[in-house]
Amino acid sequence: MSEYGVAIQRAAEWIAVRDKVVVFSGAGLSTESGIPDFRSPGGVWDRYDPEDFSFQNFVASERSRERYWQLATEMYETIRTAKPNSAHLAIAELERLGRLDCVITQNIDGLHLKAGNSEGKVIQLHGTSLYVTCLECNKRYERDPIQDRIARGDRAPHCDACGGPLKPATVSFGQSMPFDEMQEAGLRSSACEIFIVIGSSLVVYPAASFPLIAKQNGARLIIINREETPFDATADLVIHGEAGEAMSGILQKVKKMITDHIS
Ligand code: NAD
Repeated sequence: MSEYGVAIQRAAEWIAVRDKVVVFSGAGLSTESGIPDFRSPGGVWDRYDPEDFSFQNFVASERSRERYWQLATEMYETIRTAKPNSAHLAIAELERLGRLDCVITQNIDGLHLKAGNSEGKVIQLHGTSLYVTCLECNKRYERDPIQDRIARGDRAPHCDACGGPLKPATVSFGQSMPFDEMQEAGLRSSACEIFIVIGSSLVVYPAASFPLIAKQNGARLIIINREETPFDATADLVIHGEAGEAMSGILQKVKKMITDHIS
C-alpha cells in the first residue's frame, strides 16, 4: 500500500472506534466547490487587497462601505451558487454515523449546513456570509433580500429599524471574534479524542490555536492539506492531498469497519 493509502487507513481506524471527533475546516475545504481560498495561487489575496476587507475600513466612511459591498457582492455570487463537495458530504455522513462531536469552521460559505450537518454541530468561528447584521442594533437579515437592494442601486445598505450600517455577518480582519463560538470551540477542542484539520493554512489566529489545544489535551491530531502547514511536525498524522478524495477515502473505510464490526 502507498504511504497515502496507509495514512487514509490509519485515519479511518482511529475514527471508526471514537465518537468525539472534531473537524476543523478552512477555506481549502471549499475550493473543490469552486470557492477560491485566500492564499493559494489565484486565491482571493491575488485579486483583492486584504485592507479592503478590514473592519476599520468598513466603519471608516460611507464610501469605503460602498467599496466593501462591491467586493463582497462579487464574492457572494460564487458562494450563493456553490454546492457542497465530497469532503463536506463525508463530514455530514460522519455525523449520521455518530462519530462527529462538532465541526469548527473558519468558512463563511454555509456549505457544512448545506451538506446536511445539523446547526447544533457547526461552530462558525468567522460568522456566515448568508446573513447580514446591523452594526448599530444587531438586527439580522437574510442576505439575498439585501443583495436584491444592492442590485437595485443601493450601494451600501442601511438598517430598516435604526438606519445603522448593514454588514455581512462575517468576522472581518480587525473585528472581535464571537465570544460564545470561541468558548464553545475551546471546550470541544480540549475534550475531543480526534481533531482533524482540513484545508487550512493554520496561519490565521486565534482560530489556528484550536489544533494545539486539542493536542495538548490528549487528542490525536490529523491534518489533511494540499501543502505543508506550520503544524505538520506536531500532528500525529499528515495527509497531503485533496480534501475531497481524502475524506471520501476515509469515510468509505470507516463505514466498512463499522459494518464489519456489527456483522
Ligand atoms: P487559507 O487560504 O489560508 O488556506 C487554505 C489551505 O488549504 C492552503 O494551505 C491550501 O494549500 C489548502 N487547500 C486548498 N484547496 C485544497 C484542497 N482541495 N484540498 C486540500 N487542501 C487544500 O485558508 P484558511 O486557513 O481557512 O484561513 C483563511 C481565512 O479564509 C479564514 O478566516 C476564512 O474565514 C476565510 N475564507 C473562507 C472562505 C470560505 O468560506 N469558503 C473562502 C476564502 C477565505
